[in-house]
Amino acid sequence: MRFTYLGTAAAEGWPAVFCNCSFCKEAARLGGKNIRTRSQALINEDLLIDLPPDTYMHKLQRGLDLSKVRYLLITHMHMDHFYPQELTVRGGVYSHEMVSEHLDIFCAKETKDFFFEVSGWELEEASRMQMEWHILHPFETVQTGPYRITPLPASHMREGNEPFIYHIRDEQGKSVLYLHDSGYYKDEVWAYFKKTAKEEGPVSMISFDSTSGYKETDHRAHMGFAEVFRVKDRMKELGLIGPETVCVMNHFSHNGQWLYDEMVEHAAPQGCLVSYDGMKLEI
Ligand SMILES: [Zn+2]
Ligand SMILES: [Zn+2]
Ligand SMILES: [Zn+2]
Repeated sequence: MRFTYLGTAAAEGWPAVFCNCSFCKEAARLGGKNIRTRSQALINEDLLIDLPPDTYMHKLQRGLDLSKVRYLLITHMHMDHFYPQELTVRGGVYSHEMVSEHLDIFCAKETKDFFFEVSGWELEEASRMQMEWHILHPFETVQTGPYRITPLPASHMREGNEPFIYHIRDEQGKSVLYLHDSGYYKDEVWAYFKKTAKEEGPVSMISFDSTSGYKETDHRAHMGFAEVFRVKDRMKELGLIGPETVCVMNHFSHNGQWLYDEMVEHAAPQGCLVSYDGMKLEI
């Protein structure tokens, strides 16, 4: 399985759109891995996770052929993960000779409703016909093409929304936990982790919410480095993390303050990688 991080920032990007703080200025000065766009990842070339406002930039930066994307998985409807109007230029007169005309979209009901609320008026029939929406429910696994996907409830948004984190497996037995965005995991998610470790052994890769950087948080919406390390220890005890498991810190904000090199200094002794835009992993 090839896993590519396309965007690795929280909602405001880093440097943030309207910010003038020293951490944004320093990121801009240093450039390279300190420049972070909004959250998105790609598995192989056909499973896209999230559709942020920077999707088009990712296509340009990485030379992507997004017509190959057959499956779109949406974590939640925060703007840095879902910019619904982008989908109105998929199909019809807007995109020709696509590798896959059909797109299977997987998300919570609220996310689908939000899409039609803000973009329905702009959506042409030809585009609409090429999308198939699949409403997900917590812990109910779906099989789509070569992927088996289990949505887990995230600790992230106010009541009335249903944010998901995901467990994604392929036919070669590789598996990824994509845990964005989430604060400390709910008891039932820990129970799922325990069961998974027992039945399937360690996962191949985990991507952790590290938004708060050096800060301790209230754990309700995001996590920082210290909490990720504690969570990781507990996962190790459960057998969810084994010697081969690739652990990655991801989804960063200027409020977390540490720049790329400082993050690596703290993450490396814990056996964790630090994501950057364009990072590719073969797992
Ligand atoms: Zn986010
Ligand atoms: Zn800033
Ligand atoms: Zn969010």
